[in-house]
Amino acid sequence: MITETLIQQVADHLRVSQRLMILTGAGISSESGVPTFRDSLEGLWSRYDPAQLATPDAFRRDPTLVWSWYAFRRAAVRRAQPNPGHHALAEIQRRQPQAVLITQNVDDLHERAGSRAPIHLHGNIARSKCAAACRGEPTHIELPIEVSEAESAPPPCPYCGAPARPDVVWFGEMLPPAALTTAHAAAARADVCLVVGTSGVVVPAAHLPLEAKAAGAFVIEVNPVESAITPHADVWLSAPAGDILPRVVEAL
Ligand SMILES: [Zn+2]
Repeated sequence: MITETLIQQVADHLRVSQRLMILTGAGISSESGVPTFRDSLEGLWSRYDPAQLATPDAFRRDPTLVWSWYAFRRAAVRRAQPNPGHHALAEIQRRQPQAVLITQNVDDLHERAGSRAPIHLHGNIARSKCAAACRGEPTHIELPIEVSEAESAPPPCPYCGAPARPDVVWFGEMLPPAALTTAHAAAARADVCLVVGTSGVVVPAAHLPLEAKAAGAFVIEVNPVESAITPHADVWLSAPAGDILPRVVEAL
């Protein structure tokens, strides 16, 4: 049971925050119908495991297979719309221009809800880059938006001819250093940390709320189910983001 008093308490913390950090995870995207990583290994793709689809080795072995799986996932993202939780976070950012929004999600639903410059810790599925990083990491490649989910080989990098690949972090790869540095810095100086829809088990993102807490931040968690973050949260709003965050914004 989430009382109005608790919602008001959360809104008060957000309102007076000077250095707000927001961290989002798969939960908020799945409320928009974006399949989670696991869910995207269903149906046609159920005979594959992540090691065959989301590692540098898998891409070297079978670029067409990996590119086609990402085409399928990109199509699911394009079909999805930001939900009231995304819109509420964008509104919180408008009220708190100093807030830093960090996401583990590879979709662009925060951007489409109007959030400014979210930090994508795990990359952005809508973007492509040169697999050979021929002009430095990342070498972004602009591709026409293709809507086909049919199996297709990755197009070549216009600079070097190596295949294009999605600009996401695969298993065994480093997180984008600039994004990670910004995220750690935001955690170290946060006075309030709002964690939305993350399981709290994927590192290093899972450490960020704990770093913020250790540095003195008040930690608010929004998650319909208990997570690894919950025992460390000062307040846990046990509800979907799309239900509870609009009520928090109303109380701001
Ligand atoms: Zn290249």
